[in-house]
Amino acid sequence: REPDPEALLAGLNPQQRDAVVHTGSPLLVVAGAGSGKTRVLTHRIAYLLAGGVHPGQVMAITFTNKAAAEMKERVAELVGRRAGAMWVSTFHSMCVRVLRREAKVLGLSSNFSIYDADDSRRLITMVAREQDLDSKRYPARTLAVHISNLKNELLTPEEAAERAGDDMERKVAQVYAAYQRRLVESNSMDFDDLIMRTVELLQNHPAVAEHYRRRFRHVLVDEYQDTNHAQYVLVRELVGTEATESGVEPAELCVVGDADQSIYAFRGATIRNIEEFERDYPAARTILLEQNYRSTQTILSAANAVIRRNPNRRDKRLWSDAGDGDPIVGYVADNEHDEAAFVAGEIDRLVDSGEATFNDVAVFYRTNNQSRVFEEVFIRLGLPYRVVGGVRFYERREVRDALAYLRVLDNPDDTVSLRRILNVPKRGIGDRAEAVVAVHAEQERISFAQALRDAAEGRVSLLNTRARNAISGFVALLDELHEVAAKSDVAETLEQVLERTGYRAELEASDDPQDATRVENLTELVTVAREFTEARAGAPATRGEGDPSAEAVVGAAVPAAEDDEETALGLPADDSLSAFLERVSLVADADSLPESGDGVVTLMTLHTAKGLEFPVVFCTGWEDGVFPHMRALGEPAELAEERRLAYVGITRARQRLYLSRALTRSAWGQPMTNPASRFLTEIPEELMDWRRVEPERSAPQVRSTWGSRGGLDRTGSDSAQAGVAARGMRSTGAKGWKDTVALKLSAGDKVTHDKYGLGTVLSTEGEGPRATATIDFGSAGTVRLMLIGSVPMTKL
Ligand code: ATP
Ligand code: MG
Repeated sequence: REPDPEALLAGLNPQQRDAVVHTGSPLLVVAGAGSGKTRVLTHRIAYLLAGGVHPGQVMAITFTNKAAAEMKERVAELVGRRAGAMWVSTFHSMCVRVLRREAKVLGLSSNFSIYDADDSRRLITMVAREQDLDSKRYPARTLAVHISNLKNELLTPEEAAERAGDDMERKVAQVYAAYQRRLVESNSMDFDDLIMRTVELLQNHPAVAEHYRRRFRHVLVDEYQDTNHAQYVLVRELVGTEATESGVEPAELCVVGDADQSIYAFRGATIRNIEEFERDYPAARTILLEQNYRSTQTILSAANAVIRRNPNRRDKRLWSDAGDGDPIVGYVADNEHDEAAFVAGEIDRLVDSGEATFNDVAVFYRTNNQSRVFEEVFIRLGLPYRVVGGVRFYERREVRDALAYLRVLDNPDDTVSLRRILNVPKRGIGDRAEAVVAVHAEQERISFAQALRDAAEGRVSLLNTRARNAISGFVALLDELHEVAAKSDVAETLEQVLERTGYRAELEASDDPQDATRVENLTELVTVAREFTEARAGAPATRGEGDPSAEAVVGAAVPAAEDDEETALGLPADDSLSAFLERVSLVADADSLPESGDGVVTLMTLHTAKGLEFPVVFCTGWEDGVFPHMRALGEPAELAEERRLAYVGITRARQRLYLSRALTRSAWGQPMTNPASRFLTEIPEELMDWRRVEPERSAPQVRSTWGSRGGLDRTGSDSAQAGVAARGMRSTGAKGWKDTVALKLSAGDKVTHDKYGLGTVLSTEGEGPRATATIDFGSAGTVRLMLIGSVPMTKL
């Protein structure tokens, strides 16, 4: 099927069309939400293919695997089965694919394990313990964040050591070096390594880089505002900036993004990559899109009113011809249960009246834990729903245990997984025995797996007979399972693991109802494995390397025989265990989005909602301290990021938008009184239809100190002096507020507050400028106070 190039352009506006047909220089499409950036990418690919580009020459990068699958599907609708040979994936999946192919060059074995955040933290904990670091002063979590940041900046342990300026940085560099060595010994990579090692590969092996450059003549990146430095360099290495020695010209690059939707700064994303695109690629062309096709004008106006207040941004003129539509519905609930009941009631009403289906509706919140109340209410009312993300299936203990067995079978050097299952289920290999084996491994410079074998054969002196026997039994069990794995598919191997290790039997014998759920989850995992095997059996077999030969590709028509569809992961067909493990390692929150047709309401965090759209959107929990997140109050950079998140949330809505907040909400087991989110107060009143406002109160209002204004008093602006000071920023000259005075409190302390009177500190959270205390002021209520700024309170 050859699509007509003109037909592909028919549904596009002139700017979109320019972007689709542009050739000859790097292209940046910058535009606000819903202006068709993703659509441009899809149409551009289809247009290229219609013009004779071979699908094998196209690489597109999306933010989630789900988005990748959708894009592939949409292109397939436009050009047919040929779409199969394109590489459409996330950065991480793309890198795994390259690294597995090129493992030899890097001296790796191609069945390396992929460590997620939890695995990587475990390994860091082990390393930090070996280095006798105080886990209070140097928590594994903090070390992990620092190491990840270094990798996102493509800094090696040696470079990190050279740059280290303070004690923490020196310790981080030291742990990073040992951690990296352990990863290599375990034949494993963490998520950041996937990117960093691919960059290294391309930079240090020009022949390999040239091979990919020849192959991928078109590279397209969606959501470019959320790329970090490592990803930026990766893209640059892939496409190249000048011709190679043998004359391969740079590939064509097209990136699309919106600086106002950059919401992953905490993972190192930087809008610099968008802002400096023209400097990075001097010949670049930039195209702006201004028409929004997603939302009503009312929704857009609200989004603009909020994002406008961010400093240092380029203002965009985004317009819609969808008409004003309905006003935004506002609701002030008494508490979070009342809020959930309102949301559920509205959904019910919309569905009953035929105005919407369950599928049309999404409910957003700031943090995952906020989903619980919605779930309770939805279950009680029988509303079908699905939570995206949250405590993810693959993060559950039993699922991780089972996968650890599979990983050890796939990659015996995977130390983190091996140590995870060493005594799970309990088999008499205690912490001491584990430590003895670990020391032996260090001393002999052998893998933990090898050290276990030594122990089983009596070559480790410090072990008693019981421990030695237990280890022998475990080694024999693994050998047995290895044989099973060699002749079974993944599902069968998993069944045998659960059976022969006694893992399932132990759960089944337990009285704990949670263990019954665990058994169900394991059954579900077996089902996932079975479906995986079936899907692979249905897919055409991989044909060797799969790359069309370079000569055939460059500028020439490619013979039909080269038009192969590879298995999604670029692995040989018999390597199903690796492929399965890779699939489950790279699942992201958004990948579990319900299929349309499921007839369910979708619940998710604002972060997960990026790139999506729904006819009806409920943005909930718009309270200062909840959203914007407490962490961001008084931190201008973080507040700007929260504001972009608000912009993302609002612009997901096509026709109807609801914004709600609760006057009180439980946090840390205590009801907290929260003021209206500043974002809520920034939306012009004429766009809103308040269904319920804050009730008048006769008693003095109990408020957090940073929220000195009432919920519906929308005269206060973000920059009002008192407001700023109250939010804990340094403020000179604002009346009534002095410079930062930190008040040191701990649970149990008695205090007296100018306004609330006597109180008892229930708990404290955070440190420095983020320190807060939850204080019970008796009849005046329980209040969460920021302990910065001049708090009108004295410790007794
Ligand atoms: P986001 O910034 O949220 O990622 P986006 O810029 O990628 O948004 P798309 O998701 O591509 O925007 O498009 C938003 C909606 O507008 C989609 O439903 C898309 O099909 C529709 N759309 C885009 N361009 C056009 C057009 N020219 N004609 C009709 N509909 C369009
Ligand atoms: Mg998009």
